[in-house]
Amino acid sequence: MENTKFFEKPQEGQPWDVAIIGSGPSAFSAAVYSTRGAASTLILGGANWGGQLMLTTDVDNYPGFPEGIQGPELVAKMRAQAERFDAEFKAEDVVSVDFSSNPFKLKTDAGEYSANAVIIGTGAGTHWLGVPGEEKLRGRGVSSCAPCDAPFFKEKRVVVVGGGDSAMEEALVLTKYATSVTIIHRRDAFRASQAMQQKVLANKKINVIWNSEVTEFVGGDKLEKVIVKDKDGKAAELPAEGAFVAIGHVPATEIFKGQVELDEKGYVKRYEKDGYKMATSKEGVFVAGDVHDFHYRQAVTAAGFGCMAGMEALKHLDKEPPNY
Ligand SMILES: Cc1cc2nc3c(=O)[nH]c(=O)nc-3n(C[C@H](O)[C@H](O)[C@H](O)COP(=O)(O)OP(=O)(O)OC[C@H]3O[C@@H](n4cnc5c(N)ncnc54)[C@H](O)[C@@H]3O)c2cc1C
Repeated sequence: MENTKFFEKPQEGQPWDVAIIGSGPSAFSAAVYSTRGAASTLILGGANWGGQLMLTTDVDNYPGFPEGIQGPELVAKMRAQAERFDAEFKAEDVVSVDFSSNPFKLKTDAGEYSANAVIIGTGAGTHWLGVPGEEKLRGRGVSSCAPCDAPFFKEKRVVVVGGGDSAMEEALVLTKYATSVTIIHRRDAFRASQAMQQKVLANKKINVIWNSEVTEFVGGDKLEKVIVKDKDGKAAELPAEGAFVAIGHVPATEIFKGQVELDEKGYVKRYEKDGYKMATSKEGVFVAGDVHDFHYRQAVTAAGFGCMAGMEALKHLDKEPPNY
């Protein structure tokens, strides 16, 4: 396949077939599909490109890497793969979009672009506590993803911070590995569904510290303990090798307000319509990954959604109804 040109780049001032905003697994996977479908493809990946995988070390659950792979290396390989098929990558932050007419317009901190189809893959970030020690110990005991990191805490003591469904899920996953799981919640009742609460409260490995907040993560190279303060301001030390912050995620959707419909938490609303599965409220604008999916939040699911969005963008350009 050497010297194959996958598409002609648009002339100056002409629209790209597809513009992809983002630079995580959803964006690069979408680009692999759109470029190989011969659509000229521009990826606007942000100045701090690479997404959430840049924040982690061992990724043991992405298929194809039996020995595991480091997060930044995995995402660098994804970018290289998209560029192999001629995707044009720019490490520029998109500062505004105008989806009111086609071609759609995208403004970055460095220039202006237009495209006949857009894929939103801007991801989401963990809502961290912002307490001392948290940033330093991230990836050294402090995490936000139990399905990703739970096996690293085999026979260790862990805490989970939060009281919603995600905190319950994190705690339950962790019981499969950890010796003890302590949920620290700032209120006297969980927000999670009754079913999830019942499962958690019935699990003998889990105990709950109510009406308390984590005020500091303490450790040198690795997390050693968590400082917890109750509502009367009384502090206690809790020895722990792992701490999972599960107080929510923040989707990166500020620039899409008023352009596509968002849900009450700010995630892009995904529509299934006219045969499309990754559509948004705006025809020709598709969505993929953690920016709409607050449930699975995995690299492999983001890549899967990216594949679907890439294929659907091609159908849109061909003006053919999808037939999957
Ligand atoms: C600490 C940690 C460990 C994890 N470990 C694993 C694991 O082991 N296995 C696993 O499967 N998953 C893991 N995950 C989850 C996984 O990383 C995410 O599910 C996945 O990266 C989501 O991909 P995405 O493409 O939707 O978005 P993201 O990875 O969030 O990437 C979005 C990108 O879009 C860019 N962007 C945002 N706004 C703009 C803009 N305006 N202009 C340009 N670019 C923009 C951002 O800078 C970012 O680079 C982990 C997550 C974290 C935080």
